[in-house]
Amino acid sequence: MQDGTHGGRLAAGVWLAVVACCEATAAETDGWRDERTLGPFVCRADFDLAQLDPFFTQLELLQSDLNHHLGVRPASEPVELYLFRNERRYREALSRHLPGIPYRRALYVKTGGRGMVLAYWSREIEVDLRHECTHALLHATLPVVPLWLDEGLAEYFEVQREQRAFENQHLGAVRWLARFGITPRLEKLEKKSDVSDMGGAEYRDSWAWVHFMLHGPYLAHDELVRYLADIQNHAPPGILSSRLRARLPDCDRRFGAHFQSWKR
Ligand SMILES: [Zn+2]
Repeated sequence: MQDGTHGGRLAAGVWLAVVACCEATAAETDGWRDERTLGPFVCRADFDLAQLDPFFTQLELLQSDLNHHLGVRPASEPVELYLFRNERRYREALSRHLPGIPYRRALYVKTGGRGMVLAYWSREIEVDLRHECTHALLHATLPVVPLWLDEGLAEYFEVQREQRAFENQHLGAVRWLARFGITPRLEKLEKKSDVSDMGGAEYRDSWAWVHFMLHGPYLAHDELVRYLADIQNHAPPGILSSRLRARLPDCDRRFGAHFQSWKR
């Protein structure tokens, strides 16, 4: 999703406030109305979750999708989901306990090894949850994820699995730019260190590099998997753009060719 609609990582102090927020809300409503445990996810909501059961079956597959595409090990800790029945209740909880942070439609936060996703019921809830849960699962198994890659992967996996390769909202624009020989600079994305630096173009370009590495040349995918394995194993990973160019010296040209010819 575009900037401002999805959360990124928050500072530790904010994390603690979110924990307090959820606990306070639980107490105020005399406990959550419904709860589910789905693979690594423990979900609590102030509404009946039965309406989301078909979606939860798909959400559970997100973990195996990440393992399959990225080679990362499964999450080593649970992820807590807190769902509110409407935007007003979600905004109230955030404004009471997180008044300083820019409003976002859904949030992923983590502190002290505790990862949480907060969202509210809307037409976009499935996309929001796949996006934020991608962040949560990555951070539940990797000690660190570069911001651009974190967002690029979340943009990729937020779409239903059968639509990821060909039906992402970014594909049309990326293909159009590729037709004019425009390849976004990966090195520029790698310099982004704060979610507020990420605008619509940065989300699009991050998604495009992820798509190239997942569906483009074998060497690019292999280098992404090796890079993430180094992060997972606490080995210095270096810079992904340098590693990609070492394996694939004509990587910009291959990026353009990938999107010019990408069709079912
Ligand atoms: Zn995000």
